[in-house]
Amino acid sequence: MSTENIVAQSRQDDVLILTIQNPPVNAFSPGVPEGLKAGLDAAAADDSVKAVVIIGGGRTFVAGADIKTFNLPREQAPDLRGTIDKLDAFPKPTVAAIHGTALGGGLELAMGCTYRVATPDAQLGLPEVKLGVLPGAGGTQRLPRVVGAQKALEMMLSGEPIKATEGQEVGLIDRLIDGDLLSGAVAFAREVADARPLPRISERSVEGASPEVFAAARQGIKKSHRGQLSPELIIDLAEMAATTPFQDGWTAEATKFMQAKDSPQSRALRHVFFAEREAAKIPGLGKDTPTLDIRRAGIIGAGTMGGGIAMNFLNAGIPVTIVETTQEALDRGLGVIRRNYENTAKKGRMSQGDVETRMGLLTPSLDMGSLADADIIIEAVFENMDVKKDIFTRLDAIAKPGAILATNTSTLDVNEIAAVTSRPESVIGLHFFSPANVMKLLEIVRADKTSDTVLATSMALARRIRKVGVVVGVCDGFVGNRMVHRYGEEARQLVEEGARPEDVDAAMNALGLPMGPFQMSDMAGLDIGHAIRVHRAKVSGEPEPDGWLDRIVKTGRKGQKTGGGIYDYDETRTPRPNADVQALIDTYRTEKGVTPRDISTEELTKRLAYTLVNEGAQILDEGIAARAGDIDVIYLYGYGFPAYRGGPMQYADEMGLQGVVADLERYGQTPAPLLKRLADEGGSFAGLDASRGR
Ligand code: NAD
Repeated sequence: MSTENIVAQSRQDDVLILTIQNPPVNAFSPGVPEGLKAGLDAAAADDSVKAVVIIGGGRTFVAGADIKTFNLPREQAPDLRGTIDKLDAFPKPTVAAIHGTALGGGLELAMGCTYRVATPDAQLGLPEVKLGVLPGAGGTQRLPRVVGAQKALEMMLSGEPIKATEGQEVGLIDRLIDGDLLSGAVAFAREVADARPLPRISERSVEGASPEVFAAARQGIKKSHRGQLSPELIIDLAEMAATTPFQDGWTAEATKFMQAKDSPQSRALRHVFFAEREAAKIPGLGKDTPTLDIRRAGIIGAGTMGGGIAMNFLNAGIPVTIVETTQEALDRGLGVIRRNYENTAKKGRMSQGDVETRMGLLTPSLDMGSLADADIIIEAVFENMDVKKDIFTRLDAIAKPGAILATNTSTLDVNEIAAVTSRPESVIGLHFFSPANVMKLLEIVRADKTSDTVLATSMALARRIRKVGVVVGVCDGFVGNRMVHRYGEEARQLVEEGARPEDVDAAMNALGLPMGPFQMSDMAGLDIGHAIRVHRAKVSGEPEPDGWLDRIVKTGRKGQKTGGGIYDYDETRTPRPNADVQALIDTYRTEKGVTPRDISTEELTKRLAYTLVNEGAQILDEGIAARAGDIDVIYLYGYGFPAYRGGPMQYADEMGLQGVVADLERYGQTPAPLLKRLADEGGSFAGLDASRGR
């Protein structure tokens, strides 16, 4: 498309209109700056032009920079800064006419104009922090000059947009336009055509810029953005806006933008941005795969998971029938759901009316027959193959033809469950994470015979109930739990060799995980892991497990639910080391003849993180996950891996796979064949995903 087409020029008498036409969201990609500059040149050269209106064609103003251009060399990247410089120096009034969204570079462009008008529902924001960068085209210097230090920091550090109505209150929008935006903008441009001097944002000073405001912001990000670079740089720049001439801040911003953009954190956050979008695409499944209409859901089991799963459907307005074996269990389950909603209402995040509407969509039942009209049925009963097989046999006779029959099993073979039905194509695993009403991840387990329609419907359903769905294959623990299982083993091994549990957790906390392996086990309940180890030992004919952690469970310390496990807990749930636990570990080592050694933080971090990577590589090789990016998404949304590290696989890429392999070998682990091969070839997981077109 020619520059002329990307930014169309038209006239309404004395006003020149520049319409950006770069669908779908008018991103600031190559061609847009050239078109805008050409338009400004035309307006400057023509005395009959008194003012310029810049507007977005289609559904939005400029929704941001094109993230793909981040990797272009500087000379080839679209010249947003140059365009805004030109706007700032422009001798005639310029008016940005905003509808849809003005985000990132879009809002910076609008702030380069002398005035801004918007439709009331337009959204304005600087979301760069979410990608580990900062507004790099004047945003950090102009936003504080328009809305004041406090509000600008709030917007830039959260990355969240505000509505144009609020934009008007804080001075970002000069007029809200209710009717036709272009006519309103042109009328406004005529009103201000002769205003001189032009009220350029770059010439204003920053209001409310006390040192305390910046100090408070620095304090705040220690909690909200722990360990992250770009929020620090944003605060530095906002402070420069308040304390130095515009040009100095403008120049510093360019340098700091490059610093942030070239950081591993930003690479990781950009990886996450794309990985999430990729995860929604299922290899081999066409976009036109038909999906089923889900109007009614059935859930079997109103325990920890069943109740949470039900809430997701109720929140999305989908009626649910929930089935239990006894009235008592049913009452208990419904009581928990109601209490959860009432607590949300108490916090003001939901009205009492909303609570009743949701509860009104829920039908309790003791009869599986009442699931006959459900479009999807999710089983969430005890983790026992015989019980599940019995339920699926009965469901096969009850469910209507075509209904999706899903299991929430964490470890059992979905193929084996599907095989007891006459319709294995309708059976799928939907693995929610606890608490199911909170955790965003949904592992969608594709069994051998699961139909494309059932798979596509499940993916669409995940979106509808606001989950991040990732398709995985059948194996023990699927992706997330299979990896976390190996990670837990390594953590226990480290303690056996000499580390203290708190050192192990601290190493993971320093990596950015809110909870280390032992904090996580204490929360989940130590008895659960113990039961799994006992079960596995039984199945494989090994002696009953008797590791140090198994011994802790046997003392009755089962984790947070019993007031203590590996750690003690107070009311604030802060973990504190326990002397008896330490003594038990010491005794255990003595019995085993282990002389404890000091283990460096580096070794702790690498052994734990690379254990995840190694198992992830194996999972990838087996085709249980389609992409390394999928594994990363699973770890971000299911296990709190920090987005600014991009997930375990991206972290490995960043560390360099050759180094990862060398470290694994040094620590006595066998690198997975795929990991070894990639390292030998000088490859990366991202490269592998790209080469497979995924
Ligand atoms: P739970 O013990 O809290 O709840 C199970 C419920 O199922 C109980 O209320 C029980 O009365 C009911 N039930 C048993 N047999 C039934 C039947 N025939 N008909 C109707 N109801 C029946 O267990 P949970 O933690 O909710 O786990 C349920 C499933 O979810 C398991 O397969 C588990 O592996 C899986 N899962 C659990 C978690 C977790 O963290 N708890 C996470 C993901 C998946």
